[in-house]
Amino acid sequence: MLGAVATLPYQVFYLIYDIGFYWAVFSANLVFITAYLSVVICNAVGRHSLARDLALSVACTQVFVVTLLISSAAGVQLFYFSVGAFLALIYSNMNSRRFWLQSAGIGALFIISQFLFTPARALTPVPSPFVDIMFGGSVLGVLALSAVISYLYRREIEQAELELKLNNRKLTTLSVTDTLTGLANRRKLDETLLREWERTRRNGLPLSFIMCDVDHFKIYNDNLGHQAGDVCLQQAASILQEALVRPGDLVARYGGEEFAIVLPDTNAVGAHQVAETLRQAVGAMRIPHVPEEGVAFLSVSLGVTTVERPGPDELPEILLKKADEALYMAKANGRDQVVYLALTDQPLHA
Ligand code: GH3
Ligand code: MG
Ligand code: MG
Repeated sequence: MLGAVATLPYQVFYLIYDIGFYWAVFSANLVFITAYLSVVICNAVGRHSLARDLALSVACTQVFVVTLLISSAAGVQLFYFSVGAFLALIYSNMNSRRFWLQSAGIGALFIISQFLFTPARALTPVPSPFVDIMFGGSVLGVLALSAVISYLYRREIEQAELELKLNNRKLTTLSVTDTLTGLANRRKLDETLLREWERTRRNGLPLSFIMCDVDHFKIYNDNLGHQAGDVCLQQAASILQEALVRPGDLVARYGGEEFAIVLPDTNAVGAHQVAETLRQAVGAMRIPHVPEEGVAFLSVSLGVTTVERPGPDELPEILLKKADEALYMAKANGRDQVVYLALTDQPLHA
């Protein structure tokens, strides 16, 4: 748009100064205005690289035509040279060979137009007082253009930086999130468990762990379909998530229809209570199961364990192992229940 507007002062000048030259100047500028407006259209329809190529070609052609018409003494090529130089700068983040070729081409054009089109050879020469005015105008134009393009360029960089930051944050979140349920995934669980394990080792506060498994989920899937199974897992996940009140607690999808819950600063009695709350929360939703197979509503079984003071060689895996053992007992005892097992001997060693 700036390129199209920049042709106007010259048109006005010839309209006032010498109408005999006006129509030639007007026709040439009409072509340039059309070409510059095509650049705007190309940008609007998303053809950005075509737009840049076109803008660069038009600016370079204009250097020649305009300096041929009014001679290099008016300094107009300075203005168009700058357009080309800045466009080349924008290109520079794409392909360095192309950038250098274009910069060299534009530099050559500038030098040629400076020396070739001397005032004596000009087709529509400008009298001396106007040369100074036009030169001054060109310099101002160059400065204004530099400022605008630098500003736009800077803004583009800032925008790109912001997008990069947001994308990084999204990726970080995705890498620790289970895609089906939106809960923390196994990686996040492992990280949290290890961190809380170390914290417990330092501050001596109890750490509890719950393993939760949906009852008769194979029957659910086989009768209602895998997709209904997925929806059911999402429901179960949000029930568990909402039933946990402490911000430090973590519920993660351990895998399949199993969920793991980490409860920092929670002793055996507290953990048993939390597990019972979770069991009741799932039952209270009365999610229909497959009554024909003898299971009326969805339920979960939970295995709970607590560590008070981890030994120096012990690893958090002993919590998983013990909670799994407790869960197995809950299943064996008839499901839809909580079983607590204390961590006893036979620790896992590093
Ligand atoms: P139990 O009460 O003893 O836990 O019985 P169960 O049927 O729940 O246990 P089992 O381990 O035999 O079956 C688990 C089923 O969970 C098998 C599989 O079809 C289903 N399952 C695991 N992951 C997914 C999942 O991501 N989506 C769906 N729809 N089903 C899953
Ligand atoms: Mg199950
Ligand atoms: Mg299971």
